[in-house]
Amino acid sequence: MDKKINLFHLYDEVKACRKCPLYKFAKNPVPGAGSGEAKVMFVGEGPGEKEDNQGLPFVGAAGGLLDELLASIGLKRKEVYIANVVKHRPPGNRDPRPEEIEACWPYLTEQIKIIRPKLIVCLGRHSLARFLPNVGPISQVHGRAFKRRDSASAQSPSRDDQAYMALYHPAVALYNGSYRTTLFEDFKKIPIALKKIG
Ligand code: URA
Repeated sequence: MDKKINLFHLYDEVKACRKCPLYKFAKNPVPGAGSGEAKVMFVGEGPGEKEDNQGLPFVGAAGGLLDELLASIGLKRKEVYIANVVKHRPPGNRDPRPEEIEACWPYLTEQIKIIRPKLIVCLGRHSLARFLPNVGPISQVHGRAFKRRDSASAQSPSRDDQAYMALYHPAVALYNGSYRTTLFEDFKKIPIALKKIG
């Protein structure tokens, strides 16, 4: 079946999701957005207020920086896929809880299976902890590419050559120039990793 249709089915499931209490506080589900043919999939933490209002990921200030970072390596938002580890906004922008991330995980693995990205970029420590729980803290591993065997999503793989990369969350770079510089430097490693995968 067409990838777009599969993604729409998934969005309907997310809309009806009652697996954890987050839906009770949210205005809209934020399942994800972008191209079903994307080679790169970015996975952030969870929707904030703007995302909750619009039902779209990374449309607030962190999203503005994400657009700049994408442009710096010649990519447009519509060419990649952007999702989060939880698909409803945690109230007051608190961190998503482990049980919420766990409840939402099947939607993310289904998205990965449909899209089959070559590279999954974990934005921030929550995404890193879910995909690559054993590689170390983000301060040590940001900008490095990992093989599928290192990842928790290796249990439901979408392709053998899939790689993973951990980057700082754009939100941490909004008010800190050194994180911003690091993020732009780390982003340059995305096309290098893609070229290696082939
Ligand atoms: N931060 C995230 O992690 N995800 C969003 O969609 C927006 C901000």
